[in-house]
Amino acid sequence: MSLTLHDTLSRRKVAFTPRPDSNRITLYVCGPTVYNDVHIGNARPVVVFDALYRLLKAVYPDHQVVYARNVTDVDDKINAAAQAEGVPIREITERFAERYRTDMGRLGALPPDLEPRATEHIAPMRELIAALIGNGAAYAAEGHVLFDVTRYAAYGALSGRSLGDMIAGARVEVAPYKKNPQDFVLWKPSKPGEPEWPSPWGPGRPGWHIECSAMTEATLGLPVDIHGGGHDLIFPHHENEIAQACAAHGAEQPRAYARYWMHNGFLTMDAEKMSKSLGNVVRVRELLERWPGEVLRFALLSAHYRAPLDWTDALLEQAKKSLDRLYGALDDARRLTGEIGRGRIGTEADRAVRELLCDDLNTPGALSALFATSDRLRAELRAGQASAAAETAEVLVAEASLLGLLQDDPHAWFTRGADAGLSARIEALVAERVQVRAAKNWARADEIRAELTALNVEVLDGPGGTATWRLKA
Ligand code: AMP
Ligand code: ZN
Repeated sequence: MSLTLHDTLSRRKVAFTPRPDSNRITLYVCGPTVYNDVHIGNARPVVVFDALYRLLKAVYPDHQVVYARNVTDVDDKINAAAQAEGVPIREITERFAERYRTDMGRLGALPPDLEPRATEHIAPMRELIAALIGNGAAYAAEGHVLFDVTRYAAYGALSGRSLGDMIAGARVEVAPYKKNPQDFVLWKPSKPGEPEWPSPWGPGRPGWHIECSAMTEATLGLPVDIHGGGHDLIFPHHENEIAQACAAHGAEQPRAYARYWMHNGFLTMDAEKMSKSLGNVVRVRELLERWPGEVLRFALLSAHYRAPLDWTDALLEQAKKSLDRLYGALDDARRLTGEIGRGRIGTEADRAVRELLCDDLNTPGALSALFATSDRLRAELRAGQASAAAETAEVLVAEASLLGLLQDDPHAWFTRGADAGLSARIEALVAERVQVRAAKNWARADEIRAELTALNVEVLDGPGGTATWRLKA
């Protein structure tokens, strides 16, 4: 099955092919700066690239797919957060890196294989900077080291900007030590109280862009197959990553750094990008208090990754309803046919959905395909075709697993709002109801039904006098 991806550098969909000389497929996604809890916009690249990671594993079972997502743990905002709380910087970065990992896990994102941290890669950053100075692409000035953008001919190729236009359009006040307004910092002096490392250019710390160039090379080797992030990272972050890495190695072609570039569109609220600077953010943590992580994941996958996605309550309600429907079909199947087999990924079972995802990660199409399968399942259940239904239920689980969905036990999905105490009480009532009905004690059966209704419980009678229950939506 061939995989097609939209490559930002080519500005079109292209066929993805693994490197002929390697049995690895490498993926690098720019991760968070860890100084506070992330908003749902920041979760979009995580869920999108998690879907890609799962797909690559399914499409290339004979390759080793290696996914690195970095943690930026040196930054002005981190220093400010540590100062505001009066705690060491490391306490802030550890706390928020851990919370990030937890939150992303609750959105069903698999942990990446590698999680490089900027502070643990200072040596390769210094080496890269030294190489750039050595071949004239960077210069030291007043304790800073800057990249000279005129020394990389393909500068602007990723973002489609010409350097001439950029220089002509520069309005910002330019630091006097810069040769060109667009030159960007590779190394800079630290302010008092900020972390610093020794270097031949004076003590200081790295710039943001060099961090990712160094971590990509150190963790995955060059060229990385797929490099990703949100649309706002195309310029300057990814443009600068390419320039640094290629200039340091004397490579002309941007693809010497990354073979394919993928960028997700923005998550918006009222048509404006969700961002901390605009203040229109909803934190993943807050949302998780109100919604299961899978609902957030479904909502994030409901739009194509390159399209904007407007975040509304209606979107979440729709996602919840959709999952209720899909889990409902699985739960009905479970009651008729017993436990549902775990779908076999990468086999005929999930082929239709895999094909849709292989078309530049068409997640809306893939979600529609899940509904088509669940409609077929419902029809089979209505017709009492137990063995066909058992097979279709397994297909549904296999298809959904490519998207990281429907991996919960369907009964657990409908009962997760009840704590252990309430669950035990409901279980006891449901069991008693089965008994009194068998004994034709209709009066007590009615009482129990009324009690369960008051607890917002729906009872579903199964074969042979058995019964199961759900909390009503
Ligand atoms: P930041 O912390 O701003 O560097 O963002 C971390 C990641 O989230 C980057 O890949 C950004 O491109 C992405 N991102 C930030 N805001 C949004 C948004 N509103 N919609 C989609 N992606 C976003
Ligand atoms: Zn980066």
